[in-house]
Amino acid sequence: MHTPIEPRPVVIIGGGISGLTAAYRLTRASIPVHLVESSDQLGGLGMGGEIGGVEIERFYHCVMPTDEHLLPLLNELGLADTIRWQQTTMGMNVDGRRFPFNSAMDLLRFTPLRFAHRIRFGAVSLLLRRLGRGQDLDNTRTEDWLRSVYGPTVWQRMLKPLFGAKFGDAFGEVPARYLYQRLGRESNVAIRGYPEGTYRAIVDRMRTAIETGGGRILRGVSVQHVALDGDGARVRLGTGAEIAAQSVISTVPIPLLHKLADERLRSALPRVQLDYQGVVNAVFLLDRPLDGHYWAPVINCDTEFDGVVEMSALTGTERFGGRSLVYVMHYCGRDSALFAEPEADIAHRWKAQLRSLYPDRLTDAGAVEYVKVFKAPFVEPIPTLGYHERIPAVRVGDTNVFLATTAQIYPDVTSWNSSVGLADRVVREVIDNRDSARRRVVAHA
Ligand SMILES: Cc1cc2nc3c(=O)[nH]c(=O)nc-3n(C[C@H](O)[C@H](O)[C@H](O)COP(=O)(O)OP(=O)(O)OC[C@H]3O[C@@H](n4cnc5c(N)ncnc54)[C@H](O)[C@@H]3O)c2cc1C
Repeated sequence: MHTPIEPRPVVIIGGGISGLTAAYRLTRASIPVHLVESSDQLGGLGMGGEIGGVEIERFYHCVMPTDEHLLPLLNELGLADTIRWQQTTMGMNVDGRRFPFNSAMDLLRFTPLRFAHRIRFGAVSLLLRRLGRGQDLDNTRTEDWLRSVYGPTVWQRMLKPLFGAKFGDAFGEVPARYLYQRLGRESNVAIRGYPEGTYRAIVDRMRTAIETGGGRILRGVSVQHVALDGDGARVRLGTGAEIAAQSVISTVPIPLLHKLADERLRSALPRVQLDYQGVVNAVFLLDRPLDGHYWAPVINCDTEFDGVVEMSALTGTERFGGRSLVYVMHYCGRDSALFAEPEADIAHRWKAQLRSLYPDRLTDAGAVEYVKVFKAPFVEPIPTLGYHERIPAVRVGDTNVFLATTAQIYPDVTSWNSSVGLADRVVREVIDNRDSARRRVVAHA
């Protein structure tokens, strides 16, 4: 009997939101897919963890009402109604003092800045998006732009530590377009969302949709080598198995893909010189709330972390048995001394630092019930001037290898939303490319 030849699958490297979205879209288009994820869990940076017996995300995550790609996907998955929207507030911890930072009145009372600087900060912040319109912000250093509109004092005292937390000393060099875009996503948006059932509910729904659509998901298996082969590629797994792929979509950071690629693919890969910021982030389970602000930057307070996210101000405390969930974080390179330190040592120190930041709240040692540290080496590529011109294309040369990575998100902020938007675009190219290859075969026949 004649057995039909299985069409070669599209192999997707990485089961974070980019890989899951690509796999979901391709299976919906009846294209065979193998999704390979090296970790035991799907979800990538949005992956779950556990603290004190409660399920959490390892890194704080929320949904924004402006998430134009993610929200329609959640709607398709039947999950849009499970997002719990909540008005949130912001605080500011400066010089060991804590301030609310949500209204004009809060700004007027914000003593770390002199009165005239408070007025300037407020006025310029209102106008900032308008001031940036029509300017070549891709080729303007953030420091130059912000100094010119806010003045040197506000830059040095507030903006550099406030927005610079993510990129450290490199922040001043980052194109001003990044901040401009970020303000577009986040400015004046106090409403944030969080999925009932945690982010795992989204990941689980996607996994089920992919598998019932005929896609294969391999977890706990890493891709070790990708070699170009004819019009496709051979993908070797950690198990020793090899998949003959029609196309490959890589969602892993480009420096990692370089290590997996054979010589021919490596020479076709984009030659972007891109540094990545990693993160060290601690999660605390407290028996009481802090100030109730979702987000509070920490400036000049003798802490190693630069911000506090009081997650339970968004999620409520019921899921934590009435306790509060708090994250603190420091973005840094994966080669930094902090990143190399054992998690338990960081946890010990940061617990003491959190207590000294909130001495009136965390009055007794038992208030901090649990603390856990999680690290990620590749969180955010650090864009440099003119990066817009150098953003890697979706397709690698004329190969059938495609990229859906955080290095292509600029000028948008890396988020689940922007990854979904990018994965949608990549899948459209994969399908177009496949269709035109088919048309060529038919024309030849
Ligand atoms: C502290 C922090 C806070 C954040 N806050 C938010 C937020 O509030 N809202 C928001 O929307 N986003 C937020 N983000 C950003 C968001 O998590 C990322 O932008 C998004 O998850 C990127 O998804 P990805 O699939 O592109 O990459 P990743 O999530 O990094 O997925 C890549 C996957 O590839 C796998 N992999 C690597 N190498 C291999 C290999 N050789 N073989 C197989 N698999 C491999 C990895 O294990 C990983 O699962 C935050 C991130 C961090 C770190």
